[in-house]
Amino acid sequence: MLGLMQDWPLLCHRIIEHAAKYHGTQEVVTRSVEGPIYRTNYAQIHARALKVSQSLQRDGIKFGDRVATIAWNTWRHLESWYGIMGIGAICHTVNPRLFPDQIAWIINHAEDRIVMVDTTFVPMVEKVADKMPSVERYVINTDRAHMPQTTLKNAISYEEWIAQSDGDFAWKDFDENTAAAMCYTSGTTGDPKGVLYSHRSNVLHALMANCRDALGTSAADTMLPVVPLFHANSWGIAFSAPSMGTKLVMPGPKLDGASVYELLDTEKVTYTAGVPTVWLMLLNHMAANNLKLPHLRMVVCGGSAMPRSMIKSFVDMGVEVRHAWGMTEMSPLGTLATLKPPFTELQGEQRLDILQTQGYPPYGVQMKITDDAGKELAWDGKTFGRLKVSGPAVSKAYFRLDTNILDEQGYFDTGDVATIDPHGYMRITDRSKDVIKSGGEWISSIDLENLAVGHPAVAEAAVIGVRHPKWDERPLLIVQLKQGQKASREDILEFMDGKIAKWWMPDDVAFVDGIPHTATGKILKTALRDQFKSYSFPNAAA
Ligand code: ADP
Repeated sequence: MLGLMQDWPLLCHRIIEHAAKYHGTQEVVTRSVEGPIYRTNYAQIHARALKVSQSLQRDGIKFGDRVATIAWNTWRHLESWYGIMGIGAICHTVNPRLFPDQIAWIINHAEDRIVMVDTTFVPMVEKVADKMPSVERYVINTDRAHMPQTTLKNAISYEEWIAQSDGDFAWKDFDENTAAAMCYTSGTTGDPKGVLYSHRSNVLHALMANCRDALGTSAADTMLPVVPLFHANSWGIAFSAPSMGTKLVMPGPKLDGASVYELLDTEKVTYTAGVPTVWLMLLNHMAANNLKLPHLRMVVCGGSAMPRSMIKSFVDMGVEVRHAWGMTEMSPLGTLATLKPPFTELQGEQRLDILQTQGYPPYGVQMKITDDAGKELAWDGKTFGRLKVSGPAVSKAYFRLDTNILDEQGYFDTGDVATIDPHGYMRITDRSKDVIKSGGEWISSIDLENLAVGHPAVAEAAVIGVRHPKWDERPLLIVQLKQGQKASREDILEFMDGKIAKWWMPDDVAFVDGIPHTATGKILKTALRDQFKSYSFPNAAA
């Protein structure tokens, strides 16, 4: 017997309609690419998103066509998202930090017909435009006055483009399983892979993100997503914030400590979200200038492991920290570290112990850890295994790739290695390709890195496995020191000694001027492995 409730498809554009209707005057504030602060609201965003839809249709964009955006977090970018999705076209967010040739590869693979691009990236796109034959037109996200000279095909400024539409338009209902958006994984190994979100998965993910123990903002909050709209579906914030009527503050192109601080302060931001690198810049700026953020209540941090010292800095400021783990393939929220019973009253180091885990999943994500053969492993907080997940906002396949990515139970292998404790708290110990296999046992490179950055002279640390005649692999710690600071190999090893098992201790420490990063701010271990490929340990004689 079927239930007798309404057939109400979960569609992304219904979110901005809701925001316009019930929170129409709620502000969306942007540090514009042109420079000045620009203020608009959800009613305006909705009205202009309808014009984007009309303009796309006038240019021949149909249901299922792909439209790319290469843009910072701005009000125009948000309007484009909803305008593209509202007509059943697919909003393909391209990460401008990728190499230009990678960008061309991705745009070709997606067969994007229109590219909506910020002025910042016009010169870069011009260089590879002749390699992207599917693109018929470029919309430059600015007004006529700021329109650059460009060789891009059929280029028009965004403001002139939407001015040709009257906004007298209504979005229709269609199947909630229709594709809404796509985002390619950064492809540090192999070609990038296209993750294709549906309207349904995005709406369900927004509801998950809205839970009190997840991002949990309300209509009385102000959210500053430092995480870009082009990074992993903006962590869902482009949907969750309007669905709640939360004020949005968009940082545009300036993500340095001083600029982010200024917006957090002047806009009285209560919630903010971003990767650890961003928080490091913010904390350094605040410490150097003796600054405070009395309105800030919550910092959501994910993308890579949040160092304990960073968690402590925020906790000491009276700001709640929500360490989150996820990935593009998961829309991206997977787990968040919230204190739940019996841990709610913990203080000091014990509180930090829980906050530093990657946390447990909200309803809508299931997880398990397995060995290489797929056998489930114990949730004892010690046993490492491959972390696998399932849920309505988790990928089941990649765009135009024929390979099966699910196991027999329908779980997706995240490529991460983790422990899960009896309370369900998950701790990432490594990427499966980075874990160090020493004498048949696994050593977590992330644990060693986290420990090493606790040394006051260390700016950043990376650990890679290097061949060892006796143990297969042993950890090599690679360290970048803070400017003007000194520390020897022995100082650092002494600092680590006693805080981890003896056999986990790195066999050597190498000092470098800079640690290479991926386009999304993660340590680029492939480059480090290359750099140290002829390295051998001083103690490595068999
Ligand atoms: P990109 O490489 O484009 O940033 P993702 O955002 O999808 O792609 O990266 C997901 C990966 O980032 C995860 O599989 C995991 O390895 C890592 N990651 C994300 N959050 C955390 C975290 N809190 N701690 C440790 N690793 C994390």
